[in-house]
Amino acid sequence: MTDIQRLLLSRIRDVADYPEPGVMFKDITPLLADPEAFTALTEALASIAEDTGATKIVGLEARGFILGAPVAVRAGLGFIPVRKAGKLPGATLSQSYDLEYGSAEIEIHAEDLSAEDRVLVVDDVLATGGTAEASLQLVRRAKAQVAGVAVLMELAFLNGRARLEPALDGAPLHALLTVG
Ligand code: AMP
Repeated sequence: MTDIQRLLLSRIRDVADYPEPGVMFKDITPLLADPEAFTALTEALASIAEDTGATKIVGLEARGFILGAPVAVRAGLGFIPVRKAGKLPGATLSQSYDLEYGSAEIEIHAEDLSAEDRVLVVDDVLATGGTAEASLQLVRRAKAQVAGVAVLMELAFLNGRARLEPALDGAPLHALLTVG
């Protein structure tokens, strides 16, 4: 493990049984509150964005906004939010996906993407991969290219990486930290 990985890991708080019994919630608020760790995370993700040749960062509501926006600024790229259904005012593309119980729907302003864009999707935690998968489907439906997915932490025991593989179609999934 590198010094940066050690720093990042030390600033993520495990909260047992939140938001429901059996879930170990990875709370990144201590990391956000530490300027050294938050800057190191932003720089690590910005360097991934540059390596993948991304032209746009897509951040997933809500913690993907907090991480993705400074990465976009740092790397000199545009930022596009993927939001829960009903929050974006313009013409949207919508994508539904299955949750353990029920389903969810996310949306994007497709007009902010073009066929020349290469998109890096950024979020804090990759769990089952459902949210990231639906986001990649939105990016492709908006006719943009997929540069990859970058997350702070991958929960490997939930097999999100395997679920994402078809939607990535050869593009990389970068996780700065992997647990399980
Ligand atoms: P999933 O679609 O299952 O990959 O879930 C991803 C979304 O849920 C991400 O936006 C995460 O912020 C959040 N999430 C899922 N599991 C956790 C967890 N154990 N700790 C923190 N956030 C989580």
